[in-house]
Amino acid sequence: MSEETFDVVVAGGGPAGSTLASLVAMQGHRVLLLEKEVFPRYQIGESLLPSTVHGVCKMLGVTEELAAAKFPVKRGGTFRWGARPEPWTFSFAVSPRMTGPTSFAYQVERSRFDEILLNNAKRKGVTVREGCSVTEVVEEGERVTGLRYTDPEGVEHQVGARFVIDASGNKSRLHSSVGGTRDYSEFFRNLALFGYFENGKRLPEPYSGNILSVAFDSGWIWYIPLSDTLTSVGVVVRREMSEKIQGDREEAYKALIAECPLITEYLSDARRVTTGDYGELRVRKDYSYRQTAFWRPGMILVGDAACFVDPVFSSGVHLATYSALLAARSINSILAGDLDEDTALNEFEARYRREYGVFYEFLVAFYQMNQNEESYFWHAKQVTKNEHTEFESFVELVGGVSSGESALVASRIAEHSAEFAGAVDRMAAADDGDMVPLFKSQVVKQVMQEGGQVQMRAVLGEDAAPEEPVFPGGLVSSPDGMKWLPYRG
Ligand code: FAD
Repeated sequence: MSEETFDVVVAGGGPAGSTLASLVAMQGHRVLLLEKEVFPRYQIGESLLPSTVHGVCKMLGVTEELAAAKFPVKRGGTFRWGARPEPWTFSFAVSPRMTGPTSFAYQVERSRFDEILLNNAKRKGVTVREGCSVTEVVEEGERVTGLRYTDPEGVEHQVGARFVIDASGNKSRLHSSVGGTRDYSEFFRNLALFGYFENGKRLPEPYSGNILSVAFDSGWIWYIPLSDTLTSVGVVVRREMSEKIQGDREEAYKALIAECPLITEYLSDARRVTTGDYGELRVRKDYSYRQTAFWRPGMILVGDAACFVDPVFSSGVHLATYSALLAARSINSILAGDLDEDTALNEFEARYRREYGVFYEFLVAFYQMNQNEESYFWHAKQVTKNEHTEFESFVELVGGVSSGESALVASRIAEHSAEFAGAVDRMAAADDGDMVPLFKSQVVKQVMQEGGQVQMRAVLGEDAAPEEPVFPGGLVSSPDGMKWLPYRG
């Protein structure tokens, strides 16, 4: 058995793994990434948020490559959701007439997107080995000190590292080595059944690239345009309806789509793809969970290995790449000798948990909205009578900047976010009994206010006040976003 050593070894080459590996290698550290598959490989999770495209991907230096890939431009989301029968649209821009240069994301074929990020990691100096399956961590006392893996010839290897990263996704074999348990959500106990169509209809311009999400009796359906002709169509079914997916998957898929007139109409001239990577109907369940520990000495979880909420609102790749950025910052600071492991990784975990918590609460409220007409979005819309609804502003915030991260923000909506933060304050203070959990939540309120401040900084640049720590006594990011710095008031 051969043994090598690296500063960092990463299990998994999805968005979380390749982002973390690149951001650490860009600081001159030696990084090995082990990926079980040979890319390109299929993955679900096709609808992105602006924070990934304009924040993390910009830091990674792949902005032009993504533009050249000609992925459909996603300006926002269109929903048939809640009590209103007619579909409604939110835009990543505050208003459709105010489209800034960063107020869009992409709908991506993950095989292509993930390959772009992995190839970029190679260019950034990461040693990437595909077809290599990680089997277990190596421990010395309290500390994780390396990994064992099997190469494509079936030969076993052991590698040593200061840090071992589990970025191997929801099927991770390593996550339990970090300690704690994987806690499954009681609320999001849904199942997804998904496939692909050619020649589905498109929403009218300028929203032809939007994700269309349509609620119906058994759950909801996503309709994601992946090219001019290819569409990803996924049915998310509530757990108590799971018997509808038993038996013949093809029949179940057809029957569920038939329950939903809007999607049936969009697919009326379409043909289901039945061959190749997109030919299989796939099922996913038990995907909503979080590990109770995100790190231990020498080992860190990022992306789906650590947690995932739910497909609605496309937060998965955002949480994967954002957690990778936070972890890379911590590792870069520790390896440079700037911070001790506890300080750096507690900041990583606290920020990551907060971001996860915000999405979790937001998505619970979003699902509840489907059952309750007097829900907060409609309530929020009434608060200010201007064209820029709080809902749109809120979506901007969760779509890119809820983390309070200047590195992820480059949009032009600062003044509206500040206005929104004020509106949230007024709503929270009103305590009129109609308030739904979202706005009662301290964490969401706090994050939205910070989001407003952060966006203001993005607009004002050097004229803005210095970044405040997210937690009292906590750290702030370095100006280039690659490390943590102590806050010096
Ligand atoms: P992954 O993308 O899973 O990458 C992990 C990598 O690790 C893989 O390449 C895998 O081959 C590799 N690996 C696994 N085991 C090993 C091993 N032992 N050794 C070495 N390598 C290994 N997110 C969105 O942003 N938008 C969406 O629209 C969306 N829709 C979704 C719909 C459904 C039904 C579900 C379940 C999820 C959806 N997601 C969505 C979430 C998204 O799929 C994930 O959050 C995202 O892929 C996580 O990225 P990751 O890098 O953590 O993991």
